[in-house]
Amino acid sequence: MLKTLKGKVGDFVRGFHGLYQNKFDKYLMLPEGLAEISLGYSNEDREIFAYRFGADAKIKILFMGGIHGNEVGTIKLMYKLINYLHGKRFLGVEIYVLPCLNPDGLAEALESPDYFSGGRYGRFNSNKVDLNRNFKTSSFEPENHWFFGDKNVSVYCGESGFSEPESKLLANFVKDHGISILYSFHSRGKEIMGSRDDLAQKLTLDFVEKTGYKYVPEESWRKMGQTGTIKEWCEENGVSYIEIESATRFGSDWKNQKSAIIGAIKYHYG
Ligand SMILES: [Zn+2]
Repeated sequence: MLKTLKGKVGDFVRGFHGLYQNKFDKYLMLPEGLAEISLGYSNEDREIFAYRFGADAKIKILFMGGIHGNEVGTIKLMYKLINYLHGKRFLGVEIYVLPCLNPDGLAEALESPDYFSGGRYGRFNSNKVDLNRNFKTSSFEPENHWFFGDKNVSVYCGESGFSEPESKLLANFVKDHGISILYSFHSRGKEIMGSRDDLAQKLTLDFVEKTGYKYVPEESWRKMGQTGTIKEWCEENGVSYIEIESATRFGSDWKNQKSAIIGAIKYHYG
């Protein structure tokens, strides 16, 4: 009883917090003169964009938000990052920022923000597919699950790996641009994990140290039993992968993550 009440009060406080953040932490404007790249179109014909900073470098890093469209804060975080990177010079790294891989889900989330129940709407694409279960990997299954709070909810992963345009466009983009390191942002959970390779593990621990978020080891990740994830696809395709769960659903979390993101870039300087 006490626990339920505490949970309800918590939801309520978080709801107001989300409402406040969404009202006052609006999307930032993008600066003029960005190197914009179109990946193609979502299922509902919304264009998906990435922005490039620096050129002709060996190390190519991609920062990506909004694979789950309801994780609105991750998209704001990418906008903050774009504004920060604009006009700066980079040594030996080429950086790509993709603010939102799931624009159809985002549109749904903006229409129904659902502040007081944790922002449920807009996680999936418009075919109701969880894009982070739709990658063509050895474990792919058409049905899997995700944890919404402490509930284990069943999710649809699509008919086959890459049945959805958004996941396929991302995989093509990574291959076409020779991306070697991919940071994918989710919310919320204050947790970080990485693919099994040494570089990803090192970068994951650096990010943990700078944010104070919790490190999720491989064994704990395996226990969740997720299939067809981008993490697994990266492991099977030689891309180092780091996944960050931000602190809040609706806020950018830029203050907490700024030094870790800059560290992630500077790590590769000569
Ligand atoms: Zn997510």
